[in-house]
Amino acid sequence: MPFEKCPVCGGEMVEKEVTEVVRGGGHTATVKVNATVCQRGGERYFPLETVRLFETIKTKLERQETEDFKPTGRYA
Ligand SMILES: [Zn+2]
Repeated sequence: MPFEKCPVCGGEMVEKEVTEVVRGGGHTATVKVNATVCQRGGERYFPLETVRLFETIKTKLERQETEDFKPTGRYA
């Protein structure tokens, strides 16, 4: 866990699965990932590899490379 307390508001942090929306090139993909979420303010903190995953998805969407995505837009 990257933080014990939220750096923004000092709230308790909890590890959980969240759905993040990634947009690019007029497409939208929803991605289920693990994040560290602030119990008080709801801030989400993602591990570096997850941030890279979002960037990869965004780039693919911008290039219209959507064949990796299921019809629902969910990243497999
Ligand atoms: Zn917070």
